[in-house]
Amino acid sequence: MGVILKEVMSEQRTDLVLVGAGIMSATLAAMMKEVAPETTLEILEMLPEAAEESSNAWNNAGTGHAALCELNYTPEGPDGRITIDRALKVNTQFDLSRQFWAHMVRKGAMGAPESFIHDVPHISFVWGDDNVAFLRKRYEAMSAHHCFAGMEYSEDPAVLEQWMPLIMEGRDRNQRVAGTRMLTGTDVDYGAVTRGLLQHLSAQPGVAVQYSHQVTDLKRRWDGWLVTVKNLQSGKTREIVAKTVFLGAGGGALTLLQKSGIEEGKGFGGFPVSGIFLRCDDQAVVDRHLAKVYGKASVGAPPMSVPHLDTRYVDGKRSLLFGPYAGFSTKFLKYGSLADLFASVKTDNIGPLLAVGRDNFDLTKYLIGQVLESKDAKYAALRDYFPEANPDDWQFIVAGQRVQVIMPDKKSGGKLQFGTEVVSAADGSLAAVLGASPGASVAVAVMLDVMGRLYKSEFSGWAGTLKELIPSYGQSIADDAALCQAVRNDTAEALHLAKQPAVVGA
Ligand SMILES: Cc1cc2nc3c(=O)[nH]c(=O)nc-3n(C[C@H](O)[C@H](O)[C@H](O)COP(=O)(O)OP(=O)(O)OC[C@H]3O[C@@H](n4cnc5c(N)ncnc54)[C@H](O)[C@@H]3O)c2cc1C
Repeated sequence: MGVILKEVMSEQRTDLVLVGAGIMSATLAAMMKEVAPETTLEILEMLPEAAEESSNAWNNAGTGHAALCELNYTPEGPDGRITIDRALKVNTQFDLSRQFWAHMVRKGAMGAPESFIHDVPHISFVWGDDNVAFLRKRYEAMSAHHCFAGMEYSEDPAVLEQWMPLIMEGRDRNQRVAGTRMLTGTDVDYGAVTRGLLQHLSAQPGVAVQYSHQVTDLKRRWDGWLVTVKNLQSGKTREIVAKTVFLGAGGGALTLLQKSGIEEGKGFGGFPVSGIFLRCDDQAVVDRHLAKVYGKASVGAPPMSVPHLDTRYVDGKRSLLFGPYAGFSTKFLKYGSLADLFASVKTDNIGPLLAVGRDNFDLTKYLIGQVLESKDAKYAALRDYFPEANPDDWQFIVAGQRVQVIMPDKKSGGKLQFGTEVVSAADGSLAAVLGASPGASVAVAVMLDVMGRLYKSEFSGWAGTLKELIPSYGQSIADDAALCQAVRNDTAEALHLAKQPAVVGA
């Protein structure tokens, strides 16, 4: 009895353990300290620094996904109609992130906005009759909504050349082309956002951020979770008792969700997709392109593989990025293990995994094609967008690893999910974020969802504070033009961004 008591007393206890120091954990921790400052929390990261996996600036594309240029958010139905619902959702979720960042900047809890966000026009660009017809219809559907006020459309090569000279120079003049442009698009360094929030958090009472600490196991107890963590520098293992656990472990979240054994995580699997970008730092080239230009995906390509030529601002320097080229690797994290995929196959998810394999032949074919693609073929893809590109100006870089969610589906047995998925225990003691795109851009919306699941009884009482952090909280920017205008102008001022064009009816 005496020994048991001693063990219990020597346990470390905390209210909340967050696994991973990427944008998701940093956002949740920062929001929690705003709404419930008395919360004690510990962030455990296995790498020596924050934001070294998907949230690192060069591991993702840095697009402030607001559905301004990504054509996959506006599918065309069999009747030829364009649906903008998903675009509206992503668009207004990004507003929540902007509002939270604006609050943190004003409070002095994040660095200067220029350290993480910049105006970069978002352009959709297509060629060929069918694609041009699609883009025109999409423009008509979107520009009618106040959330997309200011969207421009052109089929005139001279106008498009002004918008994006590198893309138009050297292009076949007989090719039919079209583009839409939103000047209010952004480029975001999510690594800088993460580091900024963590720096602020480290100075808060009741917060511990531990690097080179890997969570190796999770066990449910009567009073929460027993989290086993290994210090990768000393090799020592310790246990923490946490009332609540958040798995913000990116590609590592599925493995930990499986270790937790929660019923709600049963049947989930992951399909890893690796990525390569081309990067150009030659300032003579870089200075001639100021936009994120998104095209149309090829047949079978997963939505996140849509090619795009982007301006990036990272560490005070402007560069260009093109890609991503998808690939296949069995790792779940860039710094993970090749055994990750095989270790994730369990009796409860083998059915969904096989169903997805059976139903996604186009994707498999596409990925095999990408893996086998030569360097010359990769440069040819770049030249589809930038006809006069010189390969000598570009270098290949390895992007972050995405683990697309495979989830059980009653009808088909299993389905592949391309968005961000929150899985949580019914008792509200654990939540995990799986998946990727639109990912980092909508971190605040995703964390509001997580907070509602983890703090069921407290959440409604936080509404007043949440309204201070996110002034539109509880209202709909999509339904209220005046609110949309006011919120966007306010966040533009705080984040030093372009103002929202006037909205009719606002
Ligand atoms: C190629 C690519 C392009 C993308 N482009 C965009 C974009 O343009 N815009 C956008 O909004 N989003 C984009 N995303 C998605 C976005 O990057 C992710 O959604 C987001 O970064 C995920 O953040 P996270 O905190 O969940 O994960 P991560 O940033 O990956 O952080 C997870 C952390 O958990 C740690 N970890 C894992 N397991 C353990 C463990 N057992 N113990 C301790 N620590 C652990 C990891 O080391 C890592 O640091 C892109 C992603 C990729 C891969």
